[in-house]
Amino acid sequence: MKKLEEIQKELEVIELNAKKLEPASEILDDWTEKALSYAKEFLGNLSDSRVFTTKDDSASFFSKERLPEKGIEMNELMQQLKKHVIDPGLNPASGGHLGYIPGGGLYPAALGDYLAAVTNKYAGIFFAGSGAVRLENFLLRWMAGLFAYPESAAGHLSSGGSIANLTAIVTARDAKNVSSRNIPQSAIYHTNQVHHCIDKAIRIAGLAEAPRRIIRMDSHFRMDSNHLRTWIAEDIARGIQPFLIVSSVGSTDTGAVDPLEEIADIARDSGAWLHVDAAYGGFFALLNEFKPAFAGIEKSDSIVVDPHKGLFLPYGVGAVIVRDGAALHRSHQYQANYMQDALGNNDEWSPAELSPELTKHFRGLRMWLPLKLFGLGPFRASLHEKILLTRYFYETVRTWPHFETGPYPDLSVAIYRYRSGSDDNAKNLKLAERIRNSGKVFISTTRIDDTVWLRLAVLSFRTHRDTIDTLLEELRREVQFI
Ligand SMILES: *Cc1c(COP(=O)(O)O)cnc(C)c1O
Repeated sequence: MKKLEEIQKELEVIELNAKKLEPASEILDDWTEKALSYAKEFLGNLSDSRVFTTKDDSASFFSKERLPEKGIEMNELMQQLKKHVIDPGLNPASGGHLGYIPGGGLYPAALGDYLAAVTNKYAGIFFAGSGAVRLENFLLRWMAGLFAYPESAAGHLSSGGSIANLTAIVTARDAKNVSSRNIPQSAIYHTNQVHHCIDKAIRIAGLAEAPRRIIRMDSHFRMDSNHLRTWIAEDIARGIQPFLIVSSVGSTDTGAVDPLEEIADIARDSGAWLHVDAAYGGFFALLNEFKPAFAGIEKSDSIVVDPHKGLFLPYGVGAVIVRDGAALHRSHQYQANYMQDALGNNDEWSPAELSPELTKHFRGLRMWLPLKLFGLGPFRASLHEKILLTRYFYETVRTWPHFETGPYPDLSVAIYRYRSGSDDNAKNLKLAERIRNSGKVFISTTRIDDTVWLRLAVLSFRTHRDTIDTLLEELRREVQFI
């Protein structure tokens, strides 16, 4: 009895301290207001803020950083956040971000994240969050519908395109019975323009020893389907099984869309799994104008799209959709005794059975909220605007003396370069650096067959005609200094 009383006494004392983790509502309101006021200031200043800042004292700050035993004032933390975390480097929320594949950050998605965190709804398992799981599966079915996948399709909202591609490749590996016995006889086909995360996924999936066939491209950097057909025929003749074809709908470097219709036929005839990496370009399927460019995608076996690219959401959500949902399930389902209440007898698969994750952020909410609040119309308009802005830029630069443009853009990425006849690679790198240092717009470069190209990538919902005009002005000015 003595022991029990001692415990009760100790609890009384310790509870007071532990309950500090649930402050009074005035304190919560105060913190919320201060965080919101920082967010408002950030958004209010965004159009005048630098898109790229090289000044960075985060190293000296974090080398001295210690976690306090007692809490620190919210305002001070907001100041530290701004100065040492948000300000240095690239500002992906800015419409002036025209490099890599630009980010977005639709505001209602932040509200979705906030509500997902406050409620901490469990979205991994149907038993714990049937509504949350249904919401995510609804979004996945909507995306599957965009690509005319059948009812049998299933998918998963991942943290991004890289994990989504890994999930698809693991599914393909298992569906095609590729294991240690036959990896060296199971060939993988792609161009050298696939995203580097494909190479990473192949290695992580244990497939590094699979023969890799780098397929030639046409003058538009699209996969040459004749070369693919020839190589597959040669492999079959040699007793090598064509296992996986990875195509791109919107390659990262040039935005090129591979000829899916032809590739899909080759995949079907050879028995290879066709994976489409549409992380960048997938949501252009929302535009009627692009239906023909996507023709054949419905015959693929798996697709990756990135809502944190083409739907302008903040970083942290990609999606994989597999045509035969049962194959995705076979590769990722599991059984555990401590989960015995939670599994089985459900009318929907749970994300935890379709991906490597168990507990996860309720990502669907950040996607559902903006799509419902805005409706699809503004998304279609913004995607269409990105296409037009890219063509506007391309048609302008094309007429400039000493500038060369790459192929006509398939989507919203265009490559171009300054040409003087000597030292052009170095000059283009310098031009890009000077433009980045202006802080007004951010551009990136790439190297294709030893030629340096400047890239324009338009995908932020905050990029409009005036942003492109600023880039054109900067190019005209800075080219005089290289
Ligand atoms: C961005 C991108 C990826 C990688 O996606 P993350 O979300 O950055 O992990 C893969 N493929 C393509 C074509 C991409 O543009």
